[in-house]
Amino acid sequence: RERNCGGDHSRILVFVRLRPMVKREREAGSRCCVRIANRRDVYLTEFGNENDYLRLKRLRGRHFAFDASFPDSATQHEVYSATTAELVEAVLQGRNGSVFCYGATGAGKTYTMLGTVENPGVMVLAIKDLFTKIRQRSCDGNHVVQLSYLEVYNETVRDLLSPGRPLVLREDKQGIVAAGLTQYRAYSTDEVMALLFQGNQNRTTEPTRANETSSRSHAILQVVVEYRVKDAAMNVINRVGKLSLIDLAGSERALATDQRTLRSLEGANINRSLLALSSCINALVEGKRHIPYRNSKLTQLLKDSLGGSCNTVMIANISPSNLSFGETQNTLHWADRAKQI
Ligand code: ADP
Ligand code: MG
Repeated sequence: RERNCGGDHSRILVFVRLRPMVKREREAGSRCCVRIANRRDVYLTEFGNENDYLRLKRLRGRHFAFDASFPDSATQHEVYSATTAELVEAVLQGRNGSVFCYGATGAGKTYTMLGTVENPGVMVLAIKDLFTKIRQRSCDGNHVVQLSYLEVYNETVRDLLSPGRPLVLREDKQGIVAAGLTQYRAYSTDEVMALLFQGNQNRTTEPTRANETSSRSHAILQVVVEYRVKDAAMNVINRVGKLSLIDLAGSERALATDQRTLRSLEGANINRSLLALSSCINALVEGKRHIPYRNSKLTQLLKDSLGGSCNTVMIANISPSNLSFGETQNTLHWADRAKQI
């Protein structure tokens, strides 16, 4: 499918990534309920409850197709190349773009976005590629790369590169900005990688499990590339592009809130950003004139990176285990809707 560049009707590319079964799932006797074929098709199988003698064991299957679907053998590089490489090129041309990882807690969002030191993810590979591309261009010295890394947690914005008090969002000439957010001038991939892993450590943790990032935390890495050059007539040409890479909060909470509408105030707060993102995407999809960016911190921060001439990519992360069947089904339904844009 062609990307839509310009116009009011945005298009989103939607990808699915299946992760391998983890030890915990194997030990719980999980069966695999997802199959990916042709790098595109996803088959979801529901196993009947074998202990339920009143029912016949039933197999129900469902089929989905996406712009690309990655099996559990897909490497970080394959995922990066197919989903994000084009956006990095666009950013160098002065356009904005965003990549979201969506899915339940444990489905592989952080692995896809940040990855590990041995297997760096989309954030690190995008920056590496960006530096390579800048080096290959003749007017090297005229590119400036700046990055910021922040968290939205319970509608509070925090700087992950310089943790401290919550940041206030302000509207200025450039749009909505988090006042005082660290803008880090980056020169090398290794330095950035260290910075991102450190930043990820600064994400809010669950009060009960201090070394586990809260499933309600959204992390946003924004990379701004500014290119400045003088043409033959000594006119200054200035191009600015911004790439936003977002590791979203676990989507299981959003679904729970949806069903038991606003059961508690906490429940409402948890998902305001995720729900607002869905509303904005829906509105963009329907070509609406009014996009409700103002409804959450996440959507305010991403206002200039969603819709319009921006490229938007969604990566839906799923687990293969039948123990996560419900969450996987919800994630695939959501991704399927985003695709119909
Ligand atoms: P999330 O951020 O969605 O909650 P994680 O990225 O933390 O989920 O993934 C949960 C676990 O699965 C982690 O231990 C992670 O290392 C592992 N994992 C996720 N995706 C993959 C993958 N593609 N290959 C190998 N391990 C993965
Ligand atoms: Mg995570």
